[in-house]
Amino acid sequence: MSLEIRNLSAGYGDVVVLRDVSFEVPQDGIVSLLGANGAGKTTTLNAISGLLTEVKAGSILLDGVDIGRLPAHERVEAGLAHVPQGRHLFPFMSVRENLEMGAYSPRGRGMETETLDWLFSIFPKVKERLSQNAGSLSGGEQQMCAIARGLMSQPKYLLLDEPSLGLAPIVVRQVMSVIRTIAERGIGVLLVEQNVAQALKLAKYAYVLEHSGIAIEGSAETLAGDDRVRKAYLGL
Ligand code: ATP
Repeated sequence: MSLEIRNLSAGYGDVVVLRDVSFEVPQDGIVSLLGANGAGKTTTLNAISGLLTEVKAGSILLDGVDIGRLPAHERVEAGLAHVPQGRHLFPFMSVRENLEMGAYSPRGRGMETETLDWLFSIFPKVKERLSQNAGSLSGGEQQMCAIARGLMSQPKYLLLDEPSLGLAPIVVRQVMSVIRTIAERGIGVLLVEQNVAQALKLAKYAYVLEHSGIAIEGSAETLAGDDRVRKAYLGL
């Protein structure tokens, strides 16, 4: 069981951002996609979830089924959730309404009560804030709410784009701990993170995107000891 990206090429108009990119996310672990600013990490996630429609080549296999030509909402139905960079909550809707929007797809509908029970156990702060407008939450609470909304569709795989962006170190640790709990539940996580040290602590395996392709890959432990990774991404 895995989310497999095969020979993905994508970009914007004539600009090629990804060329022949292949990697895999098993359903029982966290995989991190690393790279400098502008390397194409967000583009990769958008291509996988279907937000980017200009995909030039490649396939996206979710447990062996190619979902790469499906519209975004059908990819959710197949078991894929995407928590985008910047969270994109509905700020003037309550936290509860934001969560309900996550269960809009048939896959999540009807399971709301069970899913919410589970989510409240890992996001106690979200439960306390249910009736509050999402826009009034702290940055960390908003990130938790965005992840919880993604989980409302009962995904098999979760794409997380920069979940620690703009958060204080203590809140970053809370978010990372929640991501570990989600993966332990058997949801495969593809984690894009600028915070490379944290990402390598959490992930089993990681890929580094450079010059439009996967330049380095290996176990998180191997990458944490790799001279190129240490110099370019860990400032060592
Ligand atoms: P960051 O860490 O800064 O978010 P990233 O690795 O996620 O970077 P992308 O956001 O995927 O990188 O961007 C990859 C390249 O594609 C960049 O050169 C960016 O300027 C370009 N790009 C991104 N979005 C668009 C767009 N809508 N139209 C044209 N070019 C774009």
